[in-house]
Amino acid sequence: MLIFGWGNRPKFVASGSFPCPVCKTNTNYIHLRHRRWITFFFIPVIPLSKPFDTVACQKCQSSIPIVAVHGDPVSNAVAPDCRGPH
Ligand SMILES: [Zn+2]
Repeated sequence: MLIFGWGNRPKFVASGSFPCPVCKTNTNYIHLRHRRWITFFFIPVIPLSKPFDTVACQKCQSSIPIVAVHGDPVSNAVAPDCRGPH
């Protein structure tokens, strides 16, 4: 009997078209957000990791990290050197 388990339910975020870096075609994608959960009776109760986003190419079925699609990570959202005069 399986009471506890691991879940990874992708959640639909968006869809659109993009130039796929794998099959090199401008095609449709589905943007999914993944997160691992500990499940209890198949209900997700405890998140195990930070969510990560992937883009699923509808042509070649590749699952591509969103970072690879946007070019560079969005980690430089806070720029420490932009303290201008008030
Ligand atoms: Zn593709």
